[in-house]
Amino acid sequence: MVITRFAPSPTGRLHMGHAYSALFASSLAADEGGKFLLRIEDIDTSRCREEYTEGIYEDLEWLGIRWKSDVLIQSNRFDAYRKSINLLREMGVLYPCFCSRKKIEAEQSDAGLAPHGSGLPKYSGHCRKIGSKTRRDRIAQGDPHSWRLDCSAAFSITGKLMWFDRLAGEIIVDPSILGDVIISRKDIATSYHLAVTLDDAEQGVTLISRGQDLMESTHVHRLLQCLLQLPVPHWYHHELIKDEEGRRFSKRAGSLTLKEMRDSGIRPEDLRKELGF
Ligand code: GLU
Ligand code: ZN
Repeated sequence: MVITRFAPSPTGRLHMGHAYSALFASSLAADEGGKFLLRIEDIDTSRCREEYTEGIYEDLEWLGIRWKSDVLIQSNRFDAYRKSINLLREMGVLYPCFCSRKKIEAEQSDAGLAPHGSGLPKYSGHCRKIGSKTRRDRIAQGDPHSWRLDCSAAFSITGKLMWFDRLAGEIIVDPSILGDVIISRKDIATSYHLAVTLDDAEQGVTLISRGQDLMESTHVHRLLQCLLQLPVPHWYHHELIKDEEGRRFSKRAGSLTLKEMRDSGIRPEDLRKELGF
């Protein structure tokens, strides 16, 4: 049975892009007699707000989307995240990174690194080269640090991996596609990549549908799944819908929220039709 999910972050009200993604995932489940689940991705407690979580429920209900009652709330899952971080550390695939954001940015502009797909240059790997004694000393001194995935060490354990996308087909994992990503942040003991990978497994998701902007992340998630011996789902990275000016919907682009659309008298059935559902 196919199990899909929608996993928004409550950092603002939902817009059309979210509506498309949620309708896409719930229709996939409905069309195949499967289940549709919801997950609230609220690890970043400084940016997430309870009122936005309430807004998510309200907007999805208004759209006519129904989800199974066991909603996973990521901020309840820090124990599970910590366990996996410890496991990965024991495997030798994580290293502490003491760099400040400023230092990382300066290094990247010195090196003239071209931004890759996600718009952010990869991390230089500076702290990968720190000796183990210095590492221990700095940690003992309480130097703030994140934990990064040593992607080549990870790859030497996993070997060649593949993943299957319903649109793009069979894809070979490029373990260094995003560089040595952060697995556990300085301020929060997890990261998007770790939490999403663990929680899709926890919720038994068999088909992960989401926008094509997250396709590169899937390479990292596939590596983590292999290291943590998690089940391997399929993916469906859908196209990103654009507004009238050809821009992606986003808070930054000032896209109308679903609430604003609703308040202006738009009916959910009109919106569904416009989005092709
Ligand atoms: N929480 C992520 C977002 O709102 C989506 C995560 C995912 O679908 O994998 O962009
Ligand atoms: Zn560093």
